[in-house]
Amino acid sequence: MSSVVQLNKKLQPVPITVAYGDGIGPEIMEAVLKILAEARVPLQIDTIEVGQKFYEKGVTTGIPPAAWDSIRRTKVLLKAPITTPQGGGYKSLNVTMRKSLGLYSNVRPCTSYHPFIKSMHANMNLVIIRENEEDLYAGIEYRQTQDAFQSVKIITRSGSERIMRYAFEYAVQNNRKKVTCMSKDNIMKLTDGAFHDMFTMVAKEYPQIEADHYIIDIGSARIASKPHIFDVIVTENLFGDIISDIAAEVSGSVGLAGSANIGANYAMFEAIHGSAPDIAGKNIANPSGLLHGAIMMLVHLGMNEHATTIHNAWLKTIEDGQHTGDIFNDMSKAKLGCKEFADAVIARLGQEPNTYRPVKYAAVKEGGQGGIHAVMAKETEVRKLVGVDLFVHWYGKDVNELGTLLDGLSTPELKLQMLSCKGLKVWPNIVTEMDVTDRFRARFLPETKGADITLKQVSDLLSRAADKGIDYLKIETLYTFDGKNGFSSSQGE
Ligand code: NAD
Repeated sequence: MSSVVQLNKKLQPVPITVAYGDGIGPEIMEAVLKILAEARVPLQIDTIEVGQKFYEKGVTTGIPPAAWDSIRRTKVLLKAPITTPQGGGYKSLNVTMRKSLGLYSNVRPCTSYHPFIKSMHANMNLVIIRENEEDLYAGIEYRQTQDAFQSVKIITRSGSERIMRYAFEYAVQNNRKKVTCMSKDNIMKLTDGAFHDMFTMVAKEYPQIEADHYIIDIGSARIASKPHIFDVIVTENLFGDIISDIAAEVSGSVGLAGSANIGANYAMFEAIHGSAPDIAGKNIANPSGLLHGAIMMLVHLGMNEHATTIHNAWLKTIEDGQHTGDIFNDMSKAKLGCKEFADAVIARLGQEPNTYRPVKYAAVKEGGQGGIHAVMAKETEVRKLVGVDLFVHWYGKDVNELGTLLDGLSTPELKLQMLSCKGLKVWPNIVTEMDVTDRFRARFLPETKGADITLKQVSDLLSRAADKGIDYLKIETLYTFDGKNGFSSSQGE
């Protein structure tokens, strides 16, 4: 279904796809589209249906083919929240969208609106940029033994470099002064180390932007206690998920925040809250979160003037005490329904706030800020096979028994060096109080340090293990890169 909303006479309407969503979705979307129309934003709207209705028809992603066609044509989706049915089998619509459309960057501004909306922090104004495609969210998980489960964390240099470039470009475009990277590279030296290294590398290209790094634990604590010290934060997928909620919570404006998912070719904009079925159809929902998502969409589309006008009208509305029930407080002057709140914003189009600082969006490059691809570096480093880790299932009391059994597989080319359990060396010659589990790692390296080994020698080792009835779970081949280990050592090694 396609309709043109308020043609601006000078500009060609820009096609976008709109999903009204579930629960409060339709009412907040109507309110937002009315504000956009009254602000004369030149949009050609293609409406799609996704979500609950399709989940119930057995479409496990909640997205029918016609919806994909529209999104692939317009490349921009404004989406109201979706109700995800409880129970197994259903895929998260958001995760499907992110992965399928390559939406690598999640951008979530977290702002407090003191004194007109209550907040723990008066002057909080930070933006979290979360890498959206990698990390533990790749969802590669295994149950390997009775006792042990495993999830694989994947970080790439190319994906990390891309999100760093996005973060610094975002800072430049939005007149931000500082980018802070958060990672856990004191523990995960290879994965988070690579993420941090890419931050350091890209930061050098932006000398005008201050750059610093926090370990994620203290970083999260500081977001909760001193959010004003942050400007733009860039982090990995899982950490970003957690700190986005901490930041939104302490800003006091969970119901007001919007979010953007940006890729090289596609983008999706939404509110951060859900479909609020408890208040659906009552005209009491606050449309502000979705409106902020829509404002981010306008900036992405290069409609910076429209974005500025609408954002300032919204700030003036809040400042004038025109509030929906969820943010009603002793500074409020009127309690408005969803429709009436939209009308209050419309009545203030063209006005600027007095207490809050007015916003002014700069024009962005054509095509928005997302057009950064992940480019793998040329393979210039010398990658050399130097050993193998064999992961085995073993259920016994005396680790020395396992050590002796596995040492029986040793050859001069691949000699058993150590066994570890849960990352701690447990054989040989280690006395530990740690309770071991039923999953061990056996590291085989050449007797002569640095000698070449071959994949055939690795497969021969596996054959010997199978012949001896050793219950192996998986292997990891060990490489050096220009002589530097591409694998971690065990604690206690
Ligand atoms: P929710 O955000 O929908 O609601 C939490 C509470 O906040 C409720 O009391 C609700 O009434 C209130 N609330 C939320 N938005 C509001 C608004 N705009 N104005 C006033 N009050 C508002 O979270 P939930 O109840 O955990 O989830 C409900 C459904 O939404 C679930 O099916 C969930 O899967 C889905 N969900 C969807 C998205 C999305 O589509 N992006 C995000 C989160 C949750």
